[in-house]
Amino acid sequence: MANIGFIGLGNMGGPMAANLVKAGHAVTVFDLNDSAVSELVEKGANSATTALACAEEKDFVITMLPAGKHVKSIYLDENGVGAALTNNTQVIDCSTIDADTAKFVASELAKRDVSFVDAPVSGGVAGATNGTLTFIVGGSDTEFENAKTVLADMGKNIFHAGDHGAGQVAKICNNMLLAILMAGTSEALQMGIDNGLDAKVLSDIMLQSSGRNWTLELYNPCPNVLENVPSSNDYKGGFMVDLMAKDLGLAMETANSSQSNVPLGRLSQSLYQLMQNQEMGNLDFSSIFKLFNKDS
Ligand code: NAD
Repeated sequence: MANIGFIGLGNMGGPMAANLVKAGHAVTVFDLNDSAVSELVEKGANSATTALACAEEKDFVITMLPAGKHVKSIYLDENGVGAALTNNTQVIDCSTIDADTAKFVASELAKRDVSFVDAPVSGGVAGATNGTLTFIVGGSDTEFENAKTVLADMGKNIFHAGDHGAGQVAKICNNMLLAILMAGTSEALQMGIDNGLDAKVLSDIMLQSSGRNWTLELYNPCPNVLENVPSSNDYKGGFMVDLMAKDLGLAMETANSSQSNVPLGRLSQSLYQLMQNQEMGNLDFSSIFKLFNKDS
């Protein structure tokens, strides 16, 4: 069993750290939010009063933070965690951030002989809670094999996408496609409804036809077609519009730096930004369905 420092105990990091405790690892946690720390201590984790103390003398340091600026600051600030790390520690950053920051943090830590992998996740809060996340890892073969030993206690599928930053690029490609599929599925369903079709009947037809896709099958955006999805619960829970807009921002940065043509990604970004402007940022991203209702 490993000695692990875990920083960032939000919607995702909290249940991920709890699964590491459940698996029998010695887990020390830190978050700016004291109540998130207390919750983990109740589940058997140790607490640290600073990020630095959390990272000292650990086999693994795992971060699950909001954005690139938080990750860069935690590891590389003057009083950052980097100062506490040695070549005995493997850093695993599971946050969704831009690939350039992931590569920069990896190269700065490498100067101190510390290994880093980017390991963003897919699977949402349910996946984090149930230990069924997909991890998409960027790093060397050795770093990947080492990281896998603890990632396996938080997830089901663990992919090696390539070198540092590749995990972030693969994650962002997936989420750009997801945004496009959710918008397209919503548009098609609403056109069917506008022409007198029943949304469930149309969904069943498309599921057995060439329009079949993940959003239609498992995350239908039209209320009351599927049970236990955000659309049937006033679009509460799930994956927020704000987070999808953040990921589309990262996708557009990636596309700009590789000069890729992403017209559909750009269009879906503007649709999600429109939702943020209409104060829908806190709703699940399948609420894009509402944009296509001509009466709204
Ligand atoms: P969250 O806002 O719920 O949690 C972030 C946590 O980080 C908070 O508890 C905050 O207090 C803590 N934090 C921020 N700065 C800190 C610092 N300097 N030191 C210590 N703690 C600090 O976010 P989340 O939903 O858990 O998402 C985390 C990451 O996972 C994001 O990058 C997000 O894009 C990604 N992600 C989220 C989901 C999802 O469904 N929520 C799915 C996949 C990936």
